[in-house]
Amino acid sequence: MIAINLKQPLLQSVFPTVIDCPHCGNLTPHKMVGENTAAVVVPGSTDVVEGQWGQRFMLKCQTCQQVSFYEKRWTATAPNPTELYLLYPLASVAPPEVPPKVAARFKEAMEVQNKSPSLCAVGLGKTLEAIMRDQNVPKKMKLALSIDHLVQEEKIPDLFGKMMHGLRELRNLGGHDDEEDDVKAEDIPVVIDFCRAIFEYLYAAPSRLESLKKRMEQEKEKEESH
Ligand SMILES: [Zn+2]
Repeated sequence: MIAINLKQPLLQSVFPTVIDCPHCGNLTPHKMVGENTAAVVVPGSTDVVEGQWGQRFMLKCQTCQQVSFYEKRWTATAPNPTELYLLYPLASVAPPEVPPKVAARFKEAMEVQNKSPSLCAVGLGKTLEAIMRDQNVPKKMKLALSIDHLVQEEKIPDLFGKMMHGLRELRNLGGHDDEEDDVKAEDIPVVIDFCRAIFEYLYAAPSRLESLKKRMEQEKEKEESH
């Protein structure tokens, strides 16, 4: 799930609330068109998670008229949450485990995804470069070589290297003024999916695996102390 830091708690503010629209990228008023508060359930079942409540909001952007869907959670230990989770559309924000510099580049690219496919492709290329910095690839190394370097170092599997090259090639198309050979709107969702898969593989999944491991160890300790 994706966390968005709100400048002010949503409940206490008067609608329309001014937030970044995940569709058009404008910081603009949003009107609440739906709301529901219920206990949080275990995904895929009707089992209630003890002591947790969620409030879901459907907000409509007053600029592009698209709706987005958010959730806010309370727990017995955190009764005043200021974080709002974006549930839809998912493609617009990087998962919280992604390093801030990489996430910022991705956000820039997402802000132009519906305005200019070629600028979006260039932005995703920059996101890829930020990933290379984060992975300590030598700074002067060209992007194509950097990708191969990550594969050789076994930091990413071959398939992810191919996805990164696809993204890089599209970035190259987007970076030049060529009307016949330009990035098309339908290319963008494909490379956004690649980007999200790369985020999952490099950042989100390892961090989730770590917390699962910790929890399993705690369970084991509990069992042993009994
Ligand atoms: Zn909008």
